[in-house]
Amino acid sequence: MPELPEIETIRLQLQKVLIGQTLVRVNSNSKKTVKSDLGVLVGKKVIGIERLGKVLLIKFANDLKLGFHFKMTGQLIYDPTSLKASLGAGRIVGGHPTQDFINKLPSKHTRVIFYFDGGILYFNDHRKFGWIEINPKFVDSLGPEPIKMTSDEVSKAIKFIKRLRRPIKTIIMDQEVISGVGNIYANDALWEAGITPQSRSDQLTSNQLSVLFKKINLVLREGIKYGGATAANYVDLQGLGGHYQEHFRVYNREGKPCLVCKTKIKKIILGGRGTYFCPVCQR
Ligand SMILES: [Zn+2]
Repeated sequence: MPELPEIETIRLQLQKVLIGQTLVRVNSNSKKTVKSDLGVLVGKKVIGIERLGKVLLIKFANDLKLGFHFKMTGQLIYDPTSLKASLGAGRIVGGHPTQDFINKLPSKHTRVIFYFDGGILYFNDHRKFGWIEINPKFVDSLGPEPIKMTSDEVSKAIKFIKRLRRPIKTIIMDQEVISGVGNIYANDALWEAGITPQSRSDQLTSNQLSVLFKKINLVLREGIKYGGATAANYVDLQGLGGHYQEHFRVYNREGKPCLVCKTKIKKIILGGRGTYFCPVCQR
C-alpha cells in the first residue's frame, strides 16, 4: 500500500504538469470506486495538488477538491498528449507498482479516465478498495502528519499515545492518531528508535516516544528523497518509480542480517500486518 512518501512523490510530479490544465471529459466504469458525480469538474481548471496523509487531492476552481485514496492497489498514471508522449516519454506513475506502470493504457484495471486538455490521467485499481471523492469527509478524521508537527503537537501526541495502551506499531499506523505512516515506514522507524513493535505504548517512556517521532520523520523524509519505495524490477528498468526499497532497515528483510548487529531480522504478524524487527537492537 502506498504511504506518505509515495503519495508525496506523485503529488510533486503531478504538480509540475497538471496545474493550469482544464478537465475536458471523465469516463468511469466502477461505481464502487467513484463516490461523487465527477461531471461537476468538467470545464474546470486545476489550481493545485495537495496531500493529506495518504490522500491525494487535485484542487479545482470553486474550492472543489478531488480526493484519491489508493488503498492496497490504487495507482495514478499520467500520459501527456503531446509530441513528447508520442515518442514514449513523459509518463508519470504513482501508487501500487504493477506492469501497468509501463503498459499501454487503459488496461483491464483502469477504473476512471480523466481527459485534460494536455494529458490523460488514469486511476487504476486491481482490487477496487481505493476510492475517488470530491471534498472527502474522510480527511477530517486524519491525525496530524509527523513531518508537519510542531514540538508542542508532538508532546501532546506523546501524552495521548501513552494512554492508548496498545502495541506501539499499530498506534503509529492508526491514521486517526498520526497520518501517513504505513507498514514500511512504521517497521523501519521502530528499528531506528530501538523499540520492539509489540511494546505497549504505556510502557514506553516519553523520551523513547520522542525519539520515535524523530525517527518517523527521518524515514518519511528519506522516503520522499528517494521517491518512495517501488519494489518492482521492471519498473526500475524503465527509470520509473522510487528507490527507498534500497534503504529498507528491517521491512521485507526477514532472515537477513541486521544492519547494525548482524542478527537475523525476525518476522511476526502484528495487527494483521507483517512486522519485521531485530530481536537484539529493539527492546
Ligand atoms: Zn540488530
